Parts: sequence; structure tokens; C-alpha cells
Amino acid sequence: MIFGDPLEHTLREKLLSSLGQARNLWAPCLGKDGICRLQTIGAGPFPALAQPTMIPLKKLLLPYRETVWRYQSGRFRAAEMTGPFAVVGVTLCELQAVWYLDQVFAADESYQTRRANRFLVGMPCEPDSNCRCDQALMPLAGDIFIDQEQAWALSTAGEAVLHACGCTSQAEGPLPWPVGMTAQRPAITPEQYAAASDAPVWAEAASHCLSCGACSAVCPTCYCFDMLDDAALDGTVSRSRIWDNCFFAEHGKVAGGYDFRPGRAARLRFRMEHKFFGFGSLRGQNSCVGCGRCRKACPVDIDLDQIAARLKGEEGS
Ligand code: SF4
Ligand code: SF4
Repeated sequence: MIFGDPLEHTLREKLLSSLGQARNLWAPCLGKDGICRLQTIGAGPFPALAQPTMIPLKKLLLPYRETVWRYQSGRFRAAEMTGPFAVVGVTLCELQAVWYLDQVFAADESYQTRRANRFLVGMPCEPDSNCRCDQALMPLAGDIFIDQEQAWALSTAGEAVLHACGCTSQAEGPLPWPVGMTAQRPAITPEQYAAASDAPVWAEAASHCLSCGACSAVCPTCYCFDMLDDAALDGTVSRSRIWDNCFFAEHGKVAGGYDFRPGRAARLRFRMEHKFFGFGSLRGQNSCVGCGRCRKACPVDIDLDQIAARLKGEEGS
């Protein structure tokens, strides 16, 4: 849905101010260290464009560490949730990533509670050389999308907010996706991937990989987690969910000391399979939204798309 009348500057400000009255506002903010982070912005200023942050929006939906429950003095207590807030200045690829996480955590109560409290405002971005987004990859999550002239409602909540701010005329039209971003992405099939399981590129890339996990930590669709129980001497027990990482040596270790993904090549292959082909009910869905964060974060320049291109050439070798 498009609100076809030009969104005057005052209306855009009114929209964002109105969001800020009912919710805390978060937006991408460039720090003095040159790193862009999602931060609370209070009453503004509001960003004019979306910017990809180093740590993606998943940190607000699936926190690095969250207490799932706590047992104290004979009583269980559920996790405490923060109040509603809005995130303004979200990129289109990040809205796709949230859609993907919504599917993965569709039956997860704490994720869904948190998600229901987040109002997401997309904006146009300025792609850089690492961006390879693809409009056709998957649907978008989010509530509204605004540029300097128009506003799109992406959800019923978004539609209500726009109407409350005086946007009443509606028209159909495409969102302003950057064009030509997918040209560098090799389309590798599951069959090609499987046929190249012994390709030299795995050992070569693994010999450089530091197993630092940076690529997975910054990826907006990576979501591996671990559960930790802390028991104190006074009988208090708390269960926490914390981010895990498929590049860590312990990730594939199970009871009895068996490790079903020993070595960096196996872990690299696992991440690529998960990213490009998905698991479970999402098998077949490529979850790489092309944001380029992993390419920027990797200290040794490992690039899954380059590996995919090599695999196509080395299939069966
Ligand atoms: S694999 Fe890399 S480019 Fe793809 S979504 Fe994750 S961080 Fe972004
Ligand atoms: S960021 Fe690079 S070096 Fe670190 S685990 Fe990922 S691929 Fe390996």
C-alpha cells in the first residue's frame, strides 16, 4: 500500500514524533569510532536514510543473553520483557531478515512477545560494494516504509499509525529497492553443493579461517543459541538463552565426547549449507539477504559467494 500524496517534511516529522510518544525510538547511529550501531535516540534527530549497523536488528529480537525463567524462594518467574519501542531507519534487506527470523521462531513465546512490541520503520539506504540484496529472495517484515515523499504501510499496525498521522490517500506501487545488486551472486543448487563436498576450496578457506565467529555474529539471519542454567548456593536457579556460533569448536560436541563437525572446513560447510539452503521447514529458502556484513567483518576476507562460485567450478573434483 502506498500513501500517494507527497509526504511533506512536517508530516514525516509528525509521524516519527508520534511514534516516539508511545514508544522508545531506536535508530542506526554512527559512532566516533566509525561503527554504526542501533541506539536509542530519544526525541531525534531522525535519520533520513537507513544504514546497516554492524550488529543487526536481531539483537533487539533475540538478545545476546536473555533470562528465560528464574526460580527463587519457591517460585518460578517468567522472563521480564521490555516495553514497546520502534526502530526507525531499517534497511529493506534487514526487513527480509526479520521475516526469516519470524518463521524460525514462530512458536517461540519470548521471541513472539518481543516481536509484537517492536514497530519497524524501513527507509531507503545507500548500498555499498558489499551489498547484494535481492527483492525476490523472501517477503518483508515491518510496519511502515518511508522515503522523502511517500509512505507505505507494511502491516495493519503500520496502516493505523499512518492514518493517525493524516496519511489517508493510498495507491499501489513498488518499494524503492536498489537495482542491480544481485549480479555478483552465484546461484548454486543443493545438488552442486553436495557434489562438491570434497572440493579443494573447503580446505583452502579453512586454512585461513580463524574460527572467530564474527561472520555469524553479525549475520542478521544467524540465530544459533545455547541454554545455560545457573544455580546459586541459596537455591536460586536461572535459565538463560545466549547466542552460540557454529564456528566455535564446542558447537558440534555432544555427550560422550563425540564431535559431529570436527575441524574448520566442516564448520564452514555447515554455515554455508544452513545459510544458502536452510533446515527443517525452511529447507530450500536461501537466508542470505546479501547485507555484506560477513564480508566486512571477516578478518581474512572469506566470502561465501566466492566459495559458491568456486564450488560451481570445482563440482565433482
Ligand atoms: S551471510 Fe553475510 S551477506 Fe548474507 S545475510 Fe549473513 S551477514 Fe549478510
Ligand atoms: S569471520 Fe572469517 S575467520 Fe572468522 S569464523 Fe567467519 S569465516 Fe572464519
